[in-house]
Amino acid sequence: MGVHWEQLLDLSVDEDGAEERLQEVRNWLRANGWSKADPAMFFTYYDKHPADAFGPRSLLTAGPGFDTSFAFVAGRDFYHAGDGAGGPECRKCGTELPLMPIIPQIREWDERGPEPLLTCPECSWTDLLGNWDIGGCMAVSSFALIIDTSSSGTSDPLIDALIEGLQTELGGRWAYVHHHL
Ligand SMILES: [Zn+2]
Repeated sequence: MGVHWEQLLDLSVDEDGAEERLQEVRNWLRANGWSKADPAMFFTYYDKHPADAFGPRSLLTAGPGFDTSFAFVAGRDFYHAGDGAGGPECRKCGTELPLMPIIPQIREWDERGPEPLLTCPECSWTDLLGNWDIGGCMAVSSFALIIDTSSSGTSDPLIDALIEGLQTELGGRWAYVHHHL
């Protein structure tokens, strides 16, 4: 299966609000059966950060073979797709922008500049990078919910359900980047 994990990012959070957001999201996942407390749980690649075990709802949504963990990362960081990272895809027409020309803008964002505002060359749709489909691309975020899927593979139903639930019930600006080494 290789090493991979899912990165659910709340781009609405700034550094000062990151710890509070971490508690909110952690409590919400537990309260809704997505996760459960497990003092023995840690996530190899984020072992300095708090983690919880999968709850019954995650197991049910992801299907057989999933029994992994959630890690919670507060603090500004750069999240990327790893091997084979590509450009963002237009939400309107699906066109993928080439990555290389926008790397300087992304680097500027990472160095505390503004989030890049991008226009689709095909349909002229214009939006901030984090609002494009960045599943195979990258973003800067001050809060991340990480799901370890190395032993199981990605579960789109789980990712979709979590993003929808978080967005609807906790608000914010959620984006998703898959990570693969
Ligand atoms: Zn487009």
